[in-house]
This record gives sequence, structure tokens and C-alpha cells, in this order.
Amino acid sequence: MAFFLNSIPVPLKKNTADKPALRMTEVKSVTLPMLMHKGTPATPVVKMGDLVKVGTKIAEANGELSSPIYASISGKVTKVCDYLTASGERVPAVIITADGEMTAEELSAPVVNSREELLAAIRESGVVGLGGAGFPTHVKLDVDFDKVDTLIVNGTECEPYITSDNHTMNERVDDIEYTLNAFKQYFGVKHIVIGVGDNKKTSLENMKALATRVEGVEVLALPSTYSHGSEEAIVFHTTKKVLPQGKLPIDIGCVVCNVTTLAEIGKYLQTGIPLVERYVTVDGSCVKEPQCVIAPIGVSLEELFAFVGEFECEPERVVVGGPMMGITVPSLATPVLKTTNAALALSPAETKFPKESPCIRCGRCTNNCPLGIAPAAIEKAYAKRDVEELTALQVNACMECGSCSYLCPAHRPLVQTNKLAKMLVKEANN
Ligand code: SF4
Ligand code: SF4
Repeated sequence: MAFFLNSIPVPLKKNTADKPALRMTEVKSVTLPMLMHKGTPATPVVKMGDLVKVGTKIAEANGELSSPIYASISGKVTKVCDYLTASGERVPAVIITADGEMTAEELSAPVVNSREELLAAIRESGVVGLGGAGFPTHVKLDVDFDKVDTLIVNGTECEPYITSDNHTMNERVDDIEYTLNAFKQYFGVKHIVIGVGDNKKTSLENMKALATRVEGVEVLALPSTYSHGSEEAIVFHTTKKVLPQGKLPIDIGCVVCNVTTLAEIGKYLQTGIPLVERYVTVDGSCVKEPQCVIAPIGVSLEELFAFVGEFECEPERVVVGGPMMGITVPSLATPVLKTTNAALALSPAETKFPKESPCIRCGRCTNNCPLGIAPAAIEKAYAKRDVEELTALQVNACMECGSCSYLCPAHRPLVQTNKLAKMLVKEANN
């Protein structure tokens, strides 16, 4: 069995899957950092005192590997200040104080008659990988599609709690369909496979109905266990090709796009409305009424949690993204970013780390790693700061899924050590 077909028995807790998403229409302010994507920070084009509407461009992309940013509420720019990103970079941020009107810019659909115009439109839409990766989508799609045999649409969403892609497939079928037709027309995409987690019944039905209308589209129900939504797993499940370590899907003739990313492109192509809001799953054991919310990008987690009601208990930890791969935030002032698919308020019981004990060499971490990495060996090499050994153990390939830590009977902090080891290797190579 290929390693990436391993999965672990994490409870999926998709509490918000069956409730329609609710849109936040009243917020006090938004904070829009210039780095919500992979690449170079965008450059602000507004200053303090400027009045903006929903959809006003507030920052230009800075180079090809970058993305423009748009106001997600109407109001006044009250600050352009420093912002510390989760990766420790200081970038500018634009703060807009709401006027309470949510007045929209007058926008029109972009003119698209060619591959180049489609790529330019995607760049201008501000859409980046919305599954959490944040890679600028126009760069990912700027490939020779004659050499691509399958465009894979990822709708697996296997992390616990998160139902954002699920809601996209339930509520935004027309936008997804529009994008797929545009890709077929201007990129020449012939074969599309939509992979949907087999626990998402309505989404599966919707995507199957879409496939009857768009030629060349196939829909596959994929295992919804963790971490079957990884790129390696979805490439294998949909094409039976193995993605070699260190390679990208394009190296084996595939392009993988998240389904919400496609829906946002479709919205922009039809209306000219750029990326200003997104589905965010608000859940965790401290949230009394979990809810998938359509939130303006930049709204604070504090306002987001308040929108769904009071906490049931005081959160021990607040995480953006899923509980397996998400990031703990330092405060509720943290804004929703383009890549924020979930905000989880977790109780002490959910976040308690059992006391670690010495490794008993059971091999569970390696045997269950979807990529066949040896976390116990990495732990030893990291303790010696042995960069050569860490490189030989391919620590850089670790996708930080957390499966090894979850299963370790000695409760070793394996994924955390892998993150530190990756930084050590990076520093040594700079
Ligand atoms: S799972 Fe834990 S105890 Fe078992 S080999 Fe790996 S690190 Fe050691
Ligand atoms: S965190 Fe890394 S080493 Fe651990 S199971 Fe996931 S990919 Fe493997």
C-alpha cells in the first residue's frame, strides 16, 4: 500500500455541515494585512482618511508571485500600520473602520476572450489557494495545459470540523461550473476530476449533476478520513499516479485546485466582484452554536465568534484552520485572512497535551506517516542538530499533518520537532 493511503481515526465532528452558511453583514472594522498569500506582500494604494467601498482595490500585487487586496467593507481607512504575520514577518496592514452601509463599488465582469485574459482576470480577482495554502492561483494555472492530463478539483476537506468547501459545493455550484467551462474554453482543459469526501452527500449529488452538464468532468467519492485530502492522496485517488517526494503535481501532468478557489474565480468572472469574503467554519467545543459563516476578509476573530453567539466555556486555545494543521493565534484581534477556512475555540480538554515519555520504538509514527517519513529518527537527528542527517531523512517533505504526534503512545511532540528541524535545515542552507 502506498504510504499516503494511510489514515488516522480522528473524529471528524462536521457539526456545521447541514446548516446553511450565514453572512455577516455588520462589522465594526477590518484589518487587511498585505501578506495573505505565498509570495511578496502587496503594496497599499490607499492612505489614512480615504473612503472605500466593498470591492475598492486597497493594495496592488507586487510582482507576479503576489496578489491584490480589496476592501471587504465600506468605510474609512483609519490606519496603515505594521502587522506581524504568523510566520513572523512584519508587513503593512490597512485598517478600515466601517460606515455600517456595506456600500459596494460599481463593478463589471472582466472581458475574457483568451487564455492570457483569463489568467489576468484570475490575478486581478485577488484569488489565491483558499484551501489554506494561499499560493497565487494565476501562477499555478499559468502552465501548458497540453501537458496536463487531469485538472483535479479538491473537495475532500478531511480536517475535523471544517465544512467550508462543503458549503461551497452545496451553495455555489453555478460559480464552480462557470469556472470549469472557462478553463475548458481558454486553457483547453479536457479532463477534470472532482474529488469529494464520501461523507458529503449533498455535495456529491451537486457535483454529479454538474458533471452531466460539463463535458469531460468526472466525480469521485473519496475517503473522508484524515489525511486523505492531502495533495499526494488526492492525486493518487483520482489518477492512480504517485507523486514523488519533492515533486509538484504538474511534474506528473496534474494540476490540483481547491473547490472554493474555483467558485471565487467563477464569481469574479461573472460579476467583477473580487475576493472580499469567504466561508469560515466557526466551531470547537467552546462554541455553543457552531456555524459556517460568510465573513468579510479582515474581520477580527472576536467579532466572528460574537456573531455566532456566546462561548459555552472559556477557550483554552483559539486555532485558525483545522485542529490538526491549524495555527494557534495570539489573540482574538487576529483577522480572518484569505486563507482562513476555520476558527476554532478549543476547551482545555481538547487541547490538553498528555505528559511525554521516552520513545518506545513502536514504529507507529513511521508506519502511519502518509509520506513514509521517519519522525522518531528526525527527533534524534534534531537533538544532535545534525542537518545532514535531517536532510537525508527528508524532513522538508513533511506536510505537518500531525498524524505521527496524534498516534504516538509516548506523546512525543513529533510534528513540532519536524517544524523546528525544517527551520534548522532552511537556516543552514541560507
Ligand atoms: S510513535 Fe512515538 S513511541 Fe512509537 S516510535 Fe514513534 S516516537 Fe517512538
Ligand atoms: S507530520 Fe510529517 S512526519 Fe508526521 S505524519 Fe505528517 S507528514 Fe509524516
